[in-house]
Amino acid sequence: MSAQSLMQLAGALSTGTVKVVDLTQVLNPETPVIQLPEPFAQSPAFSSELISQFDDDGPAWYWNKFSCGEHCGTHFDAPGHWISGQDYSDGTTDTLDVNQLVGPACVLDFSRESADNNDFVLEPEHIKAWEAEHGEIEAGAWVLMRTDWHKRSGADFLNIDEEGPHSPGPSPAAMQFLIEERNIQGWGVETVGTDAGAAGGFEPPFPAHFMMHGANKFGLASLANLDQLPAKGAIIIAPPLKIENGSGSPLRVLALVPA
Ligand code: MN
Repeated sequence: MSAQSLMQLAGALSTGTVKVVDLTQVLNPETPVIQLPEPFAQSPAFSSELISQFDDDGPAWYWNKFSCGEHCGTHFDAPGHWISGQDYSDGTTDTLDVNQLVGPACVLDFSRESADNNDFVLEPEHIKAWEAEHGEIEAGAWVLMRTDWHKRSGADFLNIDEEGPHSPGPSPAAMQFLIEERNIQGWGVETVGTDAGAAGGFEPPFPAHFMMHGANKFGLASLANLDQLPAKGAIIIAPPLKIENGSGSPLRVLALVPA
């Protein structure tokens, strides 16, 4: 690509013929965090504490300190997050290949199916039906499953009852298809984690985590605004914080979309 085409992109951004869509949820103490059953340790929610705000502790400046789990709010899952990806030398937030953090997005809209059935499981035939309409998913793509889950909040977002969480996600066969037949770079969802609510009972359990990270590929969870993206044609930018040996991090995810 020439320097001229890159400058054309800059021009398109300034004139608005390419727009930037924010795919990120706001981080605050109410941001939903995945809840694990006993006896597993829980990940803490986001919290923020004032350092100073134009006062004796800092008369001309305002700043806070914050803390949260690495997997809080809109966040990145690195391969090292899962036991299947733990041995990759480039599998943590400080070592991964930054070239793979920018790529084309394929947005698979299963919002209606997910509304009709909160336990909707995406299968290879759903993906193939999408491809028949929109074209094949290209190698290196980020595949984003639109469910409109970002429109939910609080208890409705986690959607837990006495049987456990109910939220849509992919089957093991769907993950195998996207990894082996399409060689995608990442898998993104609007729900609290990259797997379905019931995925602990799948074989293997948590296939998006186990299989994607086992193939040294990435995950994005709690995305927002996927309904503002075209099925194909957007570029997403998803760099996690460069935490040493990090398993993931909250991040700002942006999409470049032709207007
Ligand atoms: Mn995660």
